[in-house]
Amino acid sequence: MGAEPTILEPHTPHQPSEPHIIVRGEGCRVWDSTGAELLDAVAGLWCVSLGYSERRLIDAATRQLERLPFYGSFNHRTNDVALALADELAAVAPMSRCKVFFANSGSEANDSAIKFAWYYHAARGEADRTVILSHERAYHGSTAVAASATGLAHMHGGFGPLPFDMFHRLPCPDPAGELARESSPEEFEDRLLAVAEETIQRLGPKRIAAVIAEPVLGAGGLVVPPPGYLRRLKELLRQHGILLIADEVITAFGRTGSMFGSQHFSVEPDLLTVAKGLSSAYLPISAVLLGEHVWRALGDQSSRLGTLGHGFTYSGHPVCAAVARESLRIVVERDLPGRVRQVTGPVLGEAVSRLADAPGVLGVRSLGLLAGIDLAAATKPGVAGKRLAARAVEQGVIVRAIGDTLILAPPLATEEHDLTDMVKRLDAALAAEH
Ligand code: PLP
Repeated sequence: MGAEPTILEPHTPHQPSEPHIIVRGEGCRVWDSTGAELLDAVAGLWCVSLGYSERRLIDAATRQLERLPFYGSFNHRTNDVALALADELAAVAPMSRCKVFFANSGSEANDSAIKFAWYYHAARGEADRTVILSHERAYHGSTAVAASATGLAHMHGGFGPLPFDMFHRLPCPDPAGELARESSPEEFEDRLLAVAEETIQRLGPKRIAAVIAEPVLGAGGLVVPPPGYLRRLKELLRQHGILLIADEVITAFGRTGSMFGSQHFSVEPDLLTVAKGLSSAYLPISAVLLGEHVWRALGDQSSRLGTLGHGFTYSGHPVCAAVARESLRIVVERDLPGRVRQVTGPVLGEAVSRLADAPGVLGVRSLGLLAGIDLAAATKPGVAGKRLAARAVEQGVIVRAIGDTLILAPPLATEEHDLTDMVKRLDAALAAEH
């Protein structure tokens, strides 16, 4: 057993042992402190979309650091880079005439979006709309509000005073789950919609502010909902005056094969949050995109109250914004969403589908450059996943274990041969374990 690290590691069981230390990266590869070279099949934390050595991002940061390392965005004084990035995001957004609010992380973006939903309803004279609905197994972040919206029990245990009473859940739209049993995708959608309607009626339609939803659930174990679910949910919410917040922290900027996951599922959300791939994770930046009806109502409310009482010192940080501008430019120039849809997504999907018959595998699924592999449980839940993730590192590939599901979310810039190599190494790990 190694020395206990001084760092308090996020989302990590408390264990007095040496962490696995990554020291260098290039393309879709990283090297650890022992010198081992590893293919990174999870792009850090589903975020290093352009790989670890994109010179244009490094140059964009350096140029901006030299020109203006900081200017904030309070009180109508801002910086040119944040303004330009907002325009560019609005131009590609799946909502017309949206405005953009900047934050630093996915959690902050989701906290902000939920606060904006409350502010929106208050502005329209419906301050009783306080309830936020989310899905079982959804992950929306770890700040107080985002964690309360998260549907994963381990995020709540021990944190007593989180404001849980305002947060209620819809069933996880998992086609492999109990609610989907013996049903076609359409019947499953009908069941999900029926539960949503029943939940809204039970809680009171006029008490509900918003539903926050990931188009594809990531940290809940890579759940791809049936195709019409999000669109039909949005229609139901519209009928009740409830806002839809699309949490696209993972799905934005090409990961599903569309620029936004909302576009993949043909839905126009009222608010949409992005982080991770916005800057390809080179620097921390996130954003909330607000539909026109939302930002107009916010404007009315802040005119009444004198100010919009929300924001961060680093909202629209110019160096982060410069990197995000360059990252978005590269995603568009290289048509990464199209490449994921037509080339790399099918390559990964095909390779992963061949794992379905591997020892210890219960099932596989993929969408774009996202894949999930369910393992047969070992002695207790989570053990098989943890063991396989460790075996994978021995075989030279990093995958993420969420319970007994292995997740792949490689950089969008990964070449085809590296994608197949990642899966081959995982196959070798499965064979070594059984
Ligand atoms: N929302 C989703 C869908 C996520 O996957 C994550 C992080 O993994 C977050 C929100 C939180 O983002 P952050 O860790 O940047 O706060």
